[in-house]
Amino acid sequence: MHPFNYYAPETINEATEILKKYGDRARCLAGGTDVLVQARGEKFELDAIVDVKKIPQLTKLEWTDSHLIIGAATPCHVLYEDSKVCDLFPGIVDSAFLIGGIQIQSRASLGGNLCNASPSADAICSLIVHETTCEIAGPNGTREIPVEDMCTGPGKNALENGEFLVSLKIPLKKGEFSASYERFIPRNEMDIAVAAVASSLELSNGKVSSCRVALAAVGPTPIFAKEASELLVGKEPTDENIKKVSEKAKDIASPIADMRGTVEHRKDLIEVLTRRTISKALERAGG
Ligand SMILES: Cc1cc2nc3c(=O)[nH]c(=O)nc-3n(C[C@H](O)[C@H](O)[C@H](O)COP(=O)(O)OP(=O)(O)OC[C@H]3O[C@@H](n4cnc5c(N)ncnc54)[C@H](O)[C@@H]3O)c2cc1C
Repeated sequence: MHPFNYYAPETINEATEILKKYGDRARCLAGGTDVLVQARGEKFELDAIVDVKKIPQLTKLEWTDSHLIIGAATPCHVLYEDSKVCDLFPGIVDSAFLIGGIQIQSRASLGGNLCNASPSADAICSLIVHETTCEIAGPNGTREIPVEDMCTGPGKNALENGEFLVSLKIPLKKGEFSASYERFIPRNEMDIAVAAVASSLELSNGKVSSCRVALAAVGPTPIFAKEASELLVGKEPTDENIKKVSEKAKDIASPIADMRGTVEHRKDLIEVLTRRTISKALERAGG
């Protein structure tokens, strides 16, 4: 492995300076469950690893009146061990509980899952259906982008030179809201999704006032299936209406065929998983 420097900055400014200095020869380190495996496999050459866990904003869970702010390097177990997070962010918790096994969950973060930008990443679709905003810091200050704009291709994200992800800001829903995430894997655990779906919905007077569906492993990035989601808004969440959303999600999916699944198999899985995750979100929301 190419020798590299290890930095553990304690402030956002210090981190952006190091990242800017090294450009694409530097990588952030959160849990390290992707980046260290990739560095060892010589997927890229590194001159610097920037461990972001000593920056206080990166590992905190902060509640405001309107949002939960999750530090980008917060490990998965912190999320599913928090009963308030479990109550209010069920889709996120489904994902955090699925990533690897317990050892991985004790290190791996949602920020790392997102920045790694794998099309089959288990957290990204849940972040999308929970309407997450990415809080980014860089040499020119801070900026925010919707999480669905973060992944730009397999392994590629929207961060510019010197920028890094500070936190994930997720709105608190006051009404009858819930979400769910499910993936299909050929084995029972520790595998990469062949196809996966997250869905969320909010109810008002028995009708769906908002709905979001996101698809994983069926395109070069996780997909926010906006046109499918909109089909349920203003409607009653009947089996027939949910079926229409599932069929649209199947149309939107554009998977490749590989050793893990054919195009047809993956598209069929998307239809089934969309139906299941909407039904689960509905049940959780009390509908
Ligand atoms: C045995 C095993 C099983 C796994 N199972 C799953 C699974 O079931 N589902 C799944 O989705 N993944 C799985 N993974 C992959 C990995 O665990 C997850 O993607 C995890 O969420 C990555 O988080 P991390 O904190 O370890 O990221 P890291 O490895 O620290 O970082 C990942 C990438 O994001 C960048 N990065 C990290 N933090 C920031 C930041 N704040 N700002 C900018 N860039 C940043 C890094 O530079 C790197 O490129 C598995 C990995 C292993 C080794």
